[in-house]
Amino acid sequence: MADKTFKPANSIQDLQYFGEFGGVNPSISDSSTYTFLSAKTMFDTFEGNADGCYLYSRHSTPSNLYLGEALAAMEGTETANVAASGMGAITPTILQFCQAGDHIVSSRTIYGGTYAFLKNFTPRMEIHTSFVDITKLEAVEAAITPETKVIFCECVSNPLLEIADIAGLAKIAKKHNLQLLVDNTFSPLTISPAKLGADVVMHSLTKFINGSSDTMGGVVCGSQELIDSLRNVNDGACMLLGASMDSLRAASILKNLRTLHIRIQQHSKNALFLAEKIEADGLRTVYPGLKSHPGHSLYNSMMNEQYGYGGILTIDAGNLDKANELMELMQERNLGYLAVSLGFYKTLFSAPGTSTSSEIPEDEQTEMGLTDGLIRFSIGLDADIDRTYKMMRECMEKVGIL
Ligand code: PLP
Repeated sequence: MADKTFKPANSIQDLQYFGEFGGVNPSISDSSTYTFLSAKTMFDTFEGNADGCYLYSRHSTPSNLYLGEALAAMEGTETANVAASGMGAITPTILQFCQAGDHIVSSRTIYGGTYAFLKNFTPRMEIHTSFVDITKLEAVEAAITPETKVIFCECVSNPLLEIADIAGLAKIAKKHNLQLLVDNTFSPLTISPAKLGADVVMHSLTKFINGSSDTMGGVVCGSQELIDSLRNVNDGACMLLGASMDSLRAASILKNLRTLHIRIQQHSKNALFLAEKIEADGLRTVYPGLKSHPGHSLYNSMMNEQYGYGGILTIDAGNLDKANELMELMQERNLGYLAVSLGFYKTLFSAPGTSTSSEIPEDEQTEMGLTDGLIRFSIGLDADIDRTYKMMRECMEKVGIL
């Protein structure tokens, strides 16, 4: 199913950008506005007809374009637009496709912020969303109405780690003339949604792609036509809503992107090791690399093998008190940090039911299987993962869940 010849990290490596004095990194464009030699060129640029000219940094900057190009190469799309955060990429893209009266079919297990946007915010604009179990293609198709414009999902969902069949969803989207929008934040490099038929691929760069938990960022990867429309000065949602990335940040994220392939391999290797051990110890463990995961073979059919199954796993500590006790003890013993977010060199853990998914009402959490004892781990880059496992096991025994 997956295009096994597509090597996303090669696409990043093959790009060459030099600084203006021959620097091995491109110069950072330290300007919020740009001069024009003629008034005519300024007019043409505002009309969107002057390639290679910059008008104002909310629209684009050379540094942002470098990063966008690298991310488009990674995802195999024509181009991309970077944004100030993941939500700054997702929300304008959805609004670009939908107007009052339109309808969205979304996976019910998605990041809490995106869920809150679709559930509470877009209805104010008469845009309504049906939330479905994305693993059931027939449920997705049944939810489509004549007003539907978009199918939205995460490849690997936050926090339940359900796997979306991107090729299957793309087929449905095509059949009904819809756009398939995919948030690939949990699985950069490991899954290439555009190669499987997704129309638009988005990321929170705040997570694995930047990887140092020091900045926010987002990206929309798609066709030139879409990105031009998002940046249009008259009706482009990225341009008008204004969540644009700063050039300094774009430059630093580009530098971190170059080590993403090594980091993802190590996150995946460590996460698989821990998931296998913890599952064998008898705790309910969810990780796409485990044979017990319902989406395991689907993931195998979609993945770029060399990057593994990603760095996120969940365990169920039984109840919230036990989950909190375990997380506090692990933090005390320096196994990681009790913190939301993902993709840091240290392991990060949180209980999504009371944090990143707290926007989802309790009854809906129960229905989708989000238990209050669930702990989400973003596994770090630990050099000695066996030592980490032994220390984690001691913590689990101490709080009485093993
Ligand atoms: N998408 C997913 C899957 C996320 O986990 C998050 C944040 O946690 C976002 C989007 C939003 O990204 P940001 O916090 O950069 O706005």
